[in-house]
Amino acid sequence: MPASRRRLIVLGATGTVGRQALAVLARAASPVEVVGLSAHADGAGLAELARELPGCSLFLTSAPEQKARLLAFLRAGEGYDLCLNAVVGAAGLAYSEAVLAAGRDLALANKESLVLAGALLAELAERTGGRLIPVDSEHCAIQQCLNGASRPEVRRLFLTASGGALRDLPLAELAEVRPEQALAHPNWDMGPRITIDSATMMNKALEVLEAQVLFGVAASSIEVLIHRQSVVHSFVEFVDGSVLAQMGPPDMAFPIHWALHAPGRQPAPLRGFDPALFAELTFSAPDPERYPSLALGYRAAEAGGAAGAVLNAADEVAVEAFLAGGLAFPAIAEICAEVLDRLSGLPASSLDEIRAADRAARDLAGSLVAARTP
Ligand code: MG
Repeated sequence: MPASRRRLIVLGATGTVGRQALAVLARAASPVEVVGLSAHADGAGLAELARELPGCSLFLTSAPEQKARLLAFLRAGEGYDLCLNAVVGAAGLAYSEAVLAAGRDLALANKESLVLAGALLAELAERTGGRLIPVDSEHCAIQQCLNGASRPEVRRLFLTASGGALRDLPLAELAEVRPEQALAHPNWDMGPRITIDSATMMNKALEVLEAQVLFGVAASSIEVLIHRQSVVHSFVEFVDGSVLAQMGPPDMAFPIHWALHAPGRQPAPLRGFDPALFAELTFSAPDPERYPSLALGYRAAEAGGAAGAVLNAADEVAVEAFLAGGLAFPAIAEICAEVLDRLSGLPASSLDEIRAADRAARDLAGSLVAARTP
């Protein structure tokens, strides 16, 4: 194998990001070669993907022995150079930890890894030399804008947000929102939880926590703006007042392609500048009354410890209850706020402590949901 080849394992291969990654690589002439795929329970989907990639190692992690085999493979660090973690939810953390412990590069689409255990993972990456490469479009944009700039050169980071599916709904109607309304995202095509998190802006709250870890800046230096067009993916203001933004169509193929080839760039058949797309760019501050979840991200970032894990777990439970019907849309943020109030202050100095905080928050959120649903 020539030295320039990069062996990639894709975790969560049958999900939205996993499938897009495989599609991106299939379309581009890339030095990245897929050597492994995992899925949780979609065995048929995994087998179908594997038909295009003969010789690929496959892992179906709903089977405990296969999950153990995957964790051992990642931790050994021998059969791959780069891992794309596109697992959905807190289950992704163990894989991130194993990849970085092996000193391998981690392209991270699993938000929970950083929200739950950002400090631990950053420390691990520092120690082993494994690189943490964000796939989340906002963080990917910021990383590209920073382009190696040092922390003292940065004044503020700006995360952009579409405002989600309910951004124009009169406030009084939020209480009556049905799941299918909240799932109709104006710009991005994503999985159900993240689409609901986009409507509440909990997604952006968690991204504030992510950015704090990835870029080593205080949450007070991270600002969130509603940008309806979703073409400015985020931007950096430097200490001299210069602003650098990363732009492009709202298509996850861009950050995925970048993350799989960073820090260099590889050709991709993706659309570049288009005057029609960039004709109107608007930015505005989010309304705290419409998006009470956003402030929870800042509260969790300032609290530190396991607060990120607590907030994420509460949200996962509340969103699930909303999607199942029965929980009102505004109750998602109310439940998250109450869980964060009652369980902030939990420690997070090991993965075990983080898992305990995650469980405690799920239990508490579950009982709050039960008290509110028929
Ligand atoms: Mg994002």
